[in-house]
Amino acid sequence: MACELDASRCPRCGLLAVPPEPIGCERCGTPAVELGATTVSSTGAVIGHATVYEHVRPEPATRFEVFAVRTDDGPVVRSLLRGAGPGEVTLDDRVEGAIEADRFAFVAAAVAR
Ligand SMILES: [Zn+2]
Repeated sequence: MACELDASRCPRCGLLAVPPEPIGCERCGTPAVELGATTVSSTGAVIGHATVYEHVRPEPATRFEVFAVRTDDGPVVRSLLRGAGPGEVTLDDRVEGAIEADRFAFVAAAVAR
């Protein structure tokens, strides 16, 4: 089951941001103290992915892929993908967010592609 993601919503322009904006709305400049706290669905469609061959941290071990997903509520979220091998998930495929061992990642959605 897809988890919800913490987000901020701008009261002036309506921009949803994940994670919540710490400084202010990146579209209209409304200060962070005026932004509303909300949650958005972590389910969405893959809009991009890239393979990482070198990384400054030991985890995750390279090579791994980072996916950009446009969530059904609008914000774009970038994260790792679990449960699928290279090339098994690509553009426009449906994925959903899940938290395992306190870490967020996308997994291929149970819904039809
Ligand atoms: Zn705004």
